[in-house]
Amino acid sequence: MSEHNGTTTADPSPKSNDNSQLSETSLLEVDSLQKSFGGIRAVDDVSFEIRSGSIVGLIGPNGAGKSTTFDLITGVASPDAGSVYFQGRNITGRQPYRNVNQGLVRTFQLSRELDEMTVIENLILAPQDQTGEYFWQPVLPGTRKRVRSEERDLRERVWETLEFFELDHLADEYARNLSGGQRKLLELARALLTDPDILLLDEPLVGVNPTLERKLLGRIHDLNDRGYTFLLIEHDVDVIMENCERVIVMNQGQILADGSPAEVSDDQRVLEAYLGETV
Ligand code: ADP
Ligand code: MG
Repeated sequence: MSEHNGTTTADPSPKSNDNSQLSETSLLEVDSLQKSFGGIRAVDDVSFEIRSGSIVGLIGPNGAGKSTTFDLITGVASPDAGSVYFQGRNITGRQPYRNVNQGLVRTFQLSRELDEMTVIENLILAPQDQTGEYFWQPVLPGTRKRVRSEERDLRERVWETLEFFELDHLADEYARNLSGGQRKLLELARALLTDPDILLLDEPLVGVNPTLERKLLGRIHDLNDRGYTFLLIEHDVDVIMENCERVIVMNQGQILADGSPAEVSDDQRVLEAYLGETV
């Protein structure tokens, strides 16, 4: 059960300061993660931690193991070895839906199924645990009223989110009719409606035109100002260097460098890893 959804009436809202007791520790920590596919060590002894309130970039050449690292963190895949801690709790291999309920969220690619729904239907469906929670609850006096007020809160949050992403004029459009960039915004909006603490975004800018790209990055910074934490995979190294306070570089399943944009871009091993790639 979500511990925080019930208290949020409007989204995107400032994150409450209730993880102040975590300020000395990390929001997310991965320790010696390993995952092989056949003979390939996709993730080979990866460790890092993410502090609450940061925007951290994860970069590296194609095949470096970035997406697999996200899979291991979010429970899409289980590591062969190593651990994932979220808010101090060991969540290694925990099911993705449970992680979503607890505030660890990765952007959802819009599936074909979701394509057949309108933008607003997609968003109302996003925080599924809210309706699901009440659906399974025994019907007690007052429950129906609570469901109705929950639904009203959800509709308000959905409209605020639509406006925040400037998607409100597309509310009744089928998701399949959106441009690539608009779909990215919708994906981010859906993720946001689950009221996450940390958002893991895997190449959110692919297929996004420069205007929308600026807008999406602006939204990420706005949300970060409100207390949301981001871990961002992005192919365009310049985007990462300009928008992240810290950059983790992976290559061949391992972490090559981890530091400020300036530190990382001065690192000879990073430059070498990118040789042969057009950067
Ligand atoms: P990145 O996201 O950095 O481009 P990936 O994490 O997608 O890299 O992939 C890392 C390595 O693991 C690559 O060699 C890729 O081919 C391999 N890999 C990823 N997922 C699978 C899978 N499901 N089955 C087999 N190999 C995989
Ligand atoms: Mg990838």
